[in-house]
Parts: sequence; C-alpha cells; structure tokens
Amino acid sequence: MKEKLQQLAATLEGDFFLDNTIRTLYATDASVYREVPLAVCVPKSIADIKKIIAFASKENTSLIPRTAGTSLAGQVVGNGIVVDVSKNFTQIIELNKEEKWVRVQPGVIRDELNMFLKPHGLFFGPETSTANRAMIGGMVGNNSCGSNSVVYQSVREHLLEVKAILSDGSDAEFKALDIEEFHNKCEGSSLESDIYRSVRSILSNYENQVEIRKEFPKKTIERRNTGYAVDLLLESAPFSAGAVDFNFCKLIAGSEGTLAFLTEIKLNVVPLPPEEVGLLCVHFNTIDESLRANLIALRYNPSACELIDHYILECTKENKEQSRNRFFVQGDPGAILVVEISRETREEVQQVCNNIEADMRAAKLGYHYPVLFGKDTKKYGH
Ligand SMILES: Cc1cc2nc3c(=O)[nH]c(=O)nc-3n(C[C@H](O)[C@H](O)[C@H](O)COP(=O)(O)OP(=O)(O)OC[C@H]3O[C@@H](n4cnc5c(N)ncnc54)[C@H](O)[C@@H]3O)c2cc1C
Repeated sequence: MKEKLQQLAATLEGDFFLDNTIRTLYATDASVYREVPLAVCVPKSIADIKKIIAFASKENTSLIPRTAGTSLAGQVVGNGIVVDVSKNFTQIIELNKEEKWVRVQPGVIRDELNMFLKPHGLFFGPETSTANRAMIGGMVGNNSCGSNSVVYQSVREHLLEVKAILSDGSDAEFKALDIEEFHNKCEGSSLESDIYRSVRSILSNYENQVEIRKEFPKKTIERRNTGYAVDLLLESAPFSAGAVDFNFCKLIAGSEGTLAFLTEIKLNVVPLPPEEVGLLCVHFNTIDESLRANLIALRYNPSACELIDHYILECTKENKEQSRNRFFVQGDPGAILVVEISRETREEVQQVCNNIEADMRAAKLGYHYPVLFGKDTKKYGH
C-alpha cells in the first residue's frame, strides 16, 4: 500500500504526507477519539481531490474531509486518508447583496466570512463557540448552531446550494428543484441520477413514509441538528403535496462528510442585528430554576441564550486565565443563564433586562441579575 500511496502522491499538485509526525497530528480532532490515518492530503485543486477519490475507491479505503478539525465526536478521525481543505480552499467566491447570498469554498472561517460581510450590512447567522476557527465546510458537515439558534437556527436552514464530488469522481450540484426538475434529475445513467432515483423510490414507499414520520424527532424540537434529515426530504415536493421544493442540501447538512466531498457552498445571509448588545447573566441556585426561567427570557426575543452549569463554573475557579473572567459571578451559583439582548440603544437593552429581571423575581427565579456591556461581553465564554 505504501508504494501505491507514494505513486498517488507523485501525481498531486498539493501536499501528501505519509510520515508518522503529520499522521499523528491528524489522528485527533477536539474529541477524545484517536486513530492514526493511512495518510494526510492537503489538496491544491479539484483535480487533486478527484484523484484521491479515485484512489480510495479503487483501493477500498475511506476519505475523511477535514477543515478546522474542531469536531467533538470524532467526525474527522479515521483510518483512511484525511483530506484537509483548510489551506487551499479558502476563497469567498461571490456575494449577491440583492438576493442576500454568498458562495464560498469550504475552508472559509465563519468569523472571517462575517468580517467580509459586515461592510455590506450582512452576516451569516449560525455560529459555534469555535466560530473564530471553525470553517464553513465543517459547519455544514456538523449542521452547526450555537447560542443564537433561537433566532438563526442551524446551518441547514441557510444552506442553499452545494457543488460536490461524488464517490465515482463525478461532479454534482445540489439545490432546490421544482417537481419537474426533480423528475428530470431521475433520468439518466449518472451516479447523481441514481441517487435521485433511489431517494424517489425510498420516499414514495408508503411504509417508509409511515416509519419516518413515526420515528424522527417531533417537529416541535427545533434544534435537532444531528443525523440524516430524511424526514425533511419527505416534507418536500413531490413527496408532500404543496410543500417546499426538494433540496438535497437538507440531507447534506449534518451528514458529517459521509455523502459527498463539498467544493463550493452557497449560503443565505441576513441583515446585521442591532449594534447594541447586553448580556443579562442571571444567577440561580439550581439548574432546574434556570430552565424554568429560560421560558421567561424567551418571551423577550433574546438574540441568544446559553446556560453555564455548576461544573463549568467550578472549572474556571482554579484556572488563572478564567478566574479573571468570573468578575460578574456572585456567590456559588448552581447555574448562570446568559441572555443576550440586542436592540438599537443601550437604554432599550437595559429596559428589556429590567423587565426580564422583574418577571423572574415575581416568579421567584434567580438571585442576582448583572448586565454586561461592551468589552465585558467578550470575557464571558472565552
Ligand atoms: C470548545 C468547543 C465548543 C464547540 N461549540 C460548538 C457549538 O456551539 N455548536 C456546534 O455546532 N459545534 C460546536 N463545536 C464543534 C465544532 O467546533 C463545530 O461543529 C464546527 O462547526 C466544526 O467546524 P470545523 O471546521 O472544525 O469542522 P471539522 O471538524 O473539520 O469537520 C466537521 C465535519 O464536516 C465534514 N467536512 C468538512 N469539510 C468538508 C467538505 N469539504 N466536504 C464534506 N464534508 C466536510 C468533516 O468530514 C466532518 O464530518 C465545538 C467544539 C469545541 C472544541
């Protein structure tokens, strides 16, 4: 195998590593899992990616697409070839301000995308705590979402189109299709047509429909961000009358690099939220109290809500760096609920925080209600 890998390396424009040091560096992500890959590739072009796919297919090994590698559940750990697109696939290709979308390569960092969008009054909503390094390819793979998901949901809701390479090396473009376009895609002999035909046959089957509707999470669970969203494909035309157009992107978001190798991603972007932001950091004696108080906070249209539990707070006590960021913590809370309020002026933010505090006090929830503004907001969560 080593010889075959060396032969492959010689045909690539990008870098290809077989040495132990690099393979060991790529044996982990941010999870506890560790598995040394067969090789690591840093492709320079789409042609490189196609060559690696052809090799993996012929040699019956796997590929692990990777961007920033910050996954928490071993998503980029495996014994195949790790393909790192964080170095050479970093272009923001096109912005359409009128239609509010942006087209990027998978190695664009989420916060850098938003720095680019800011002068245009736009931003990409879904976030993660790792947004200053997490990349769009990985965010699509994990269907990422963070504390602002109460407003902006997850990547899936903003993923419009992708360009991808399939397991036979063929190009595919996945996007919204009306019923006629969907049936047209099912014609032909390509792998892409095969995929459309298979899905049509699976989702047209009545027993499958019943099973999917019965077993998938309830629609009322909004933040259901893992697994293959087959139920959402079923909720689109032609499988549900009068429903939204079929779009394979619903399935690709959250598929953790298992369905296709993404090379371009088209995302919906939204107007920037109001500038003034305040964090109401409500202290509770128990987590149970904080969960009930969250229902009150949600009535005030927060832009984000996040819970810091007792365990996290404990970890910050002995940590030199983090202990400085505890300046707003009073006593020994069992939980702190951080409610982010965004409005046009600081006075408006303060007023909303006062109202939330009054409602929580009336419900006997919480014991301390500091509000952080400006630079202090950056200290929490870091
Ligand atoms: C401290 C900490 C906090 C975190 N908080 C959050 C959070 O709030 N919300 C959240 O959602 N996640 C969170 N995460 C997990 C992770 O940071 C995010 O999911 C992030 O979006 C992953 O991005 P990445 O670039 O690191 O992706 P990677 O880890 O490199 O990859 C993620 C997945 O995407 C696939 N992928 C990458 N590129 C491609 C491509 N070109 N084609 C096909 N598939 C591809 C990979 O194969 C993998 O399955 C957190 C992680 C840490 C360490």
